[in-house]
Amino acid sequence: MAWVLSGLALPHRLLSRNPFHGCDVAETDFFHHDDVVAVLTTQPLDRVLDYRAPEGGCFAGAFVEVPLGPRKVIGVVWGAGQGAVDPSRLRHVIRVLDAAPMRAEMQEFIHRAADYTLTPLPAMLRLATRAPGLGDPPAMRRILRATHTPPSRWTDARHRAMEVLNAYGGLALTLAELTEAAGVSSSVVKGLIKQGSIVEEETPRDRAFPHLDPARQGKALSDDQAAAATALCAGLQSGAYGTTLLRGVTGSGKTEVYLEAVAECLRQGRQALVLLPEIALTAEFLSRVEARFGAQPAEWHSGVTMTERRRIWKMIGQGGAQLVVGARSALFLPFQNLGLIIVDEEHDTSYKQEDGVLYNARDMAVLRASICDARVVLASATPSLESWANAEAGKYDKLVLTDRYGAAVMPRIGVIDMRSESLPSDRWISPSLQQAVNERLNRGEQAMLFINRRGYAPITLCRACGHQIGCDHCDARMVEHRFLKRLVCHQCGDSKPIPNACPACDAEDRLAPVGPGVERLSEEATSLFPDARIATLSSDMHGTARDLKAEIEAIVAGGADIIIGTQLVAKGHNFPLLTLVGAIDADLGLQGSDLRAAERTFQLMRQVAGRAGRAEKQGIAMLQSYQPEHPVIRAIVAGDEEGFWRAEAAERQQAGVPPYGRMAGIILSGPDMQQVFDLGNRLARNDVALRRIGAQVFGPAPAPIARIRGRHRVRLLVKADKSAPLQGALSQWVGQLKLPAQVRLAVDIDPQSFF
Ligand code: ADP
Ligand code: ZN
Repeated sequence: MAWVLSGLALPHRLLSRNPFHGCDVAETDFFHHDDVVAVLTTQPLDRVLDYRAPEGGCFAGAFVEVPLGPRKVIGVVWGAGQGAVDPSRLRHVIRVLDAAPMRAEMQEFIHRAADYTLTPLPAMLRLATRAPGLGDPPAMRRILRATHTPPSRWTDARHRAMEVLNAYGGLALTLAELTEAAGVSSSVVKGLIKQGSIVEEETPRDRAFPHLDPARQGKALSDDQAAAATALCAGLQSGAYGTTLLRGVTGSGKTEVYLEAVAECLRQGRQALVLLPEIALTAEFLSRVEARFGAQPAEWHSGVTMTERRRIWKMIGQGGAQLVVGARSALFLPFQNLGLIIVDEEHDTSYKQEDGVLYNARDMAVLRASICDARVVLASATPSLESWANAEAGKYDKLVLTDRYGAAVMPRIGVIDMRSESLPSDRWISPSLQQAVNERLNRGEQAMLFINRRGYAPITLCRACGHQIGCDHCDARMVEHRFLKRLVCHQCGDSKPIPNACPACDAEDRLAPVGPGVERLSEEATSLFPDARIATLSSDMHGTARDLKAEIEAIVAGGADIIIGTQLVAKGHNFPLLTLVGAIDADLGLQGSDLRAAERTFQLMRQVAGRAGRAEKQGIAMLQSYQPEHPVIRAIVAGDEEGFWRAEAAERQQAGVPPYGRMAGIILSGPDMQQVFDLGNRLARNDVALRRIGAQVFGPAPAPIARIRGRHRVRLLVKADKSAPLQGALSQWVGQLKLPAQVRLAVDIDPQSFF
């Protein structure tokens, strides 16, 4: 069917007061009572279902409740019915929900994202309907409005109440809000209601977000920044889709630059989305948005309350939110007029969702923007090779900021050759690093010690029999978490108390931690630097995002001398007093067989190093390494980013792997190892569909983690040319396999991690 797009946008103020009732899709298809419509539900069915439109009709895209067997489920009117069933035998849509209909472009996005990731449509729709209480009737609240009737008698309190109510007239205060703002008792207000000077009204509970004002003055930009901002704004003014890679060293002021693009987007009356890789980064970012636009934007991630999530979902759909700052799932919010998506730290691995629907939010952002004529800005100091290659090939525009903003200069990076440091085997801070830390402490500056490992120790070894404690359900070692006093499996999350005796040989008191984790590093630092205030940051050590935010703010204000952290501290934070970063194990990431091991290590180490010296004082990063002559370590130290990417690109091109070839991972998992292997073998043998497009299949092989939660895992890898129509061939290929009930098959397009 032909979708008619409406370019009609109502002014923000109007929409925010006027709950949506179909006004924005006046040109779109409307189905009258009893017309046959096709409804896509979030239930795991392989097709849309026909229903008859409810009394009053419904728009295409309407969110509806429909009967399915004995149940009522939520769905979306996907289009006209297919007519396979006699209309007289069809049931009716029960009701249209109180939400803006899904736009045609969103339907297209869901379709194409499902096709790309080989995800069933209902699973994709579930991502787009994650609004708690979507099916609830509109929740109302009581607000107060001033009339022109004066009370029979004025008192000071009555004056104050009326003044405040008139002053806040547009904001629709509740009784509690008015009494608080005016400092009067509720009996004063109730008296005024009785007198008819104030009336009570019912309005929907979900309120529009405060207006962000793009006309407010931003920071004065440097020449480089201004040029980049102008280019981004020009892109927005073109009104056409486009993606720009905004590459700038850490501290170059990329955020200030893309906030100017956000301002331009808001001036155009369109909505903007900023994706951040880490919840912990949102607090700082929200403050910057508030400083720039005078109010806080909507914030969308797993740490946000259900009520707030429903409000955001609805307000995005009604135009009552101009800017959303959020995690990858914010891409599936029902934007009405999306003009700009920023993907900050675009190289970050957390943009790839690794369970449920396997998608990469960076790539889906580009897809979504291309459908609705929006712009994408991919910001990073160390772009992914994918984005770097797209920019090289001219598919993306490229903007580069080469210097740090203001007086700040890039940190120097040096290597500590661990082979020539004398260090006992249960210690990880080398004498050279220790000395460097002491120098900072004496000068009243901050030092950071970085290790990309959670917990106390990665291995718990029995010194009597050599047994290493593993997870009962996974093929993984248990990691000691001394903070929790437990052994934890990082695969399935299972945990148990640390035993006294070895589970294999029963020897008592012979279990010993082997290797370092962030908690152990913290312990070592405490003994080396007894007078220093040490703050340890690890994603599993903070109850809530708010605790973490408070902790980070305290550190920024100088509340710690040494910051010890995992990956969490490598990303985006500004610690102005920090002048030294020590990376405890720079070789850690180089060991894996992962195709992106070099890229990841390069990005992570450059990123961590970039935390140092963000203010006036020169910073230094020291990488502890046992292989300082490794090409990746040498490239990190030399800071030769272009050189590194070129070399890495040449290698991947040679091997025909992403971004110069295509890959898909297939994971078969089930309780019976032999069974999943047999199925894997059958797939590998029947590869006609793949050979037809010139693709190759490797495996089956046990996945690197061969068992998770008691399920055995077998992996196949498919490689194809960049231009090969991979998805079609894949679905044909795996479609021929009849899966027993207990076996699962997951297809991972463009796999990021190989676990
Ligand atoms: P990046 O995102 O590239 O790492 P930021 O945008 O966070 O860099 O900028 C680094 C620091 O420099 C921040 O504290 C920011 O407020 C400051 N800064 C950047 N540009 C300007 C500017 N034009 N005027 C004032 N301060 C700026
Ligand atoms: Zn486990």
